[in-house]
Amino acid sequence: MAEGNEDSFAIEVIVADSEKAAPCCPHGPTLLFEKTSKGGEAGRRFYACSACRDRKDCNFFQWEDDKVSEVRLLAREAENRSKRPQFTHKEYCSRLKKFSALRVDEKRFCLDCQLLLLPTESLAHYTHKTVGLTANQLLRPSALLKPLDNKKSNAQYLFTDRSTHFLLDTLEALGYRRVLCVGTPRLHELIKVRNLEKTHEPMKSLLLDIDLRYAQFYSREEFCHYNMFNHHFFDGEASSAVLQSFLTESEGEKVVMVADPPFGGLVKPLAKSFSLISQTWKKLQSSESSQADLSMMWIFPYFFEPRILECFPSFTMLDYQVDYDNHPLYKHGKTGRKQSPVRLFTNISASQVVLPKEEGYRFCAVCQRSVWSLNRHCAKCNVCPSKDGREWKHCSACEKCVKPSWRHCEVCGRCALPDHPCGDGEGKEGCFNCGSLKHKRKACPVKDTHRVSGNRPNNKKKGGKNVSFKPKAKKAAKKAAKNVSQRPASKAKGKRKSGAARRAKKMAAMSV
Ligand code: SAH
Ligand code: ZN
Ligand code: ZN
Ligand code: ZN
Ligand code: ZN
Repeated sequence: MAEGNEDSFAIEVIVADSEKAAPCCPHGPTLLFEKTSKGGEAGRRFYACSACRDRKDCNFFQWEDDKVSEVRLLAREAENRSKRPQFTHKEYCSRLKKFSALRVDEKRFCLDCQLLLLPTESLAHYTHKTVGLTANQLLRPSALLKPLDNKKSNAQYLFTDRSTHFLLDTLEALGYRRVLCVGTPRLHELIKVRNLEKTHEPMKSLLLDIDLRYAQFYSREEFCHYNMFNHHFFDGEASSAVLQSFLTESEGEKVVMVADPPFGGLVKPLAKSFSLISQTWKKLQSSESSQADLSMMWIFPYFFEPRILECFPSFTMLDYQVDYDNHPLYKHGKTGRKQSPVRLFTNISASQVVLPKEEGYRFCAVCQRSVWSLNRHCAKCNVCPSKDGREWKHCSACEKCVKPSWRHCEVCGRCALPDHPCGDGEGKEGCFNCGSLKHKRKACPVKDTHRVSGNRPNNKKKGGKNVSFKPKAKKAAKKAAKNVSQRPASKAKGKRKSGAARRAKKMAAMSV
């Protein structure tokens, strides 16, 4: 039976409040992981890079209980130093100054090096592909820079104009005047463009991103080189001071944080970083308003809902489908196009966020929130129940709404996929994929045969990366990777990558 998962083990990230200082890789403090075997006995813990899931990108590894010799520490420091980028942000700023002063016909960008070129450098890039740059292009770096897709966990997926404008219009209407853009370069640049056009309320924006290429285009007040998995500022104090001053709501300018992290999982470290940002904001508040929380929007696929709510119980998931330019699967689900599984998780009251009628959303007066047209209000459950954009249906026996593909099973006494394995089991939650009580989703035998996109959390193991996968899953992931450039890119081979492989498979399954 396919349930056999003997060789399986999971890797969980351990996020503690007071950690002893983790060793650093070029991406800042590493994260502590624990490998647990199937039996669940505590496994050995190790430190690995927070930002790169692919060992090819960062191969840092250290057992927690390792005694690291002085020699090795020195070698590691030297290694970290050697990985430092070609230019510092400060240097990029002085380059930008020079670049901006150039004549239009002198302004060139090297596609191979992804670098704004100064005239003195043209010889060095003589054999490279270079292009001329207009002032307009200089304002839209996200359209100019080649989206990163080589690094599996750092794949960049850019919002469509539709989604960027929706986000900004919504924030503006809600009265926010400062937007902290965490991994949202496209939102950041639209704010700047609009400010220049003077067509909207002026807004301030600060981009925090790990992609240093953006430092070429922005001042140190507009961009900080930042790792959102460990809240690490590559430029240290200078950058955290920039964040602090940005979060100080001078002149009553309300702040909101908008983050669109890579979907590779690791919900807990992200939540920890966002909490730290929120705490920083709180400390800067005048005492009377110190009860409030920093307004946040966390953009992530809907099936992460349980895990995000675990970290931020006050958040709600909005029905709005965020879509992306360079992702064929993440399209807005109108007129037969595929629906995006990506949603907004926020502590802003859902009743205040009006989703566009012309795109198929409506306001549910009972739920007091905007919902997708197919998300019909269920009088019995008294909610608009759908999570995945499909129309769910009420089962009177289960007394709740279920995915449209599920049928009530008399043997199991609950709704499930028609071909789920029957029989009662200990797990009262049942399989997230097929509804069966006999197994958990991880061991679901019909996992790969059904293209379902239900409300299932990414992983039953909290914050864990399930690194076991059966050949079938691997094959599906490979197939998915071939067809489209997945956000959590797959082609998984190494152990630490199979979480991405599994998600890639899930993304492929989104096409319902
Ligand atoms: N939809 C967004 C882009 C999201 S892609 C937009 O259109 O603006 C994810 C973004 O997060 C990218 O900009 C990427 O560079 C950034 N990123 C990836 N890993 C990161 C990390 N560890 N820390 C900070 N930013 C990261
Ligand atoms: Zn119902
Ligand atoms: Zn039922
Ligand atoms: Zn059954
Ligand atoms: Zn199952």
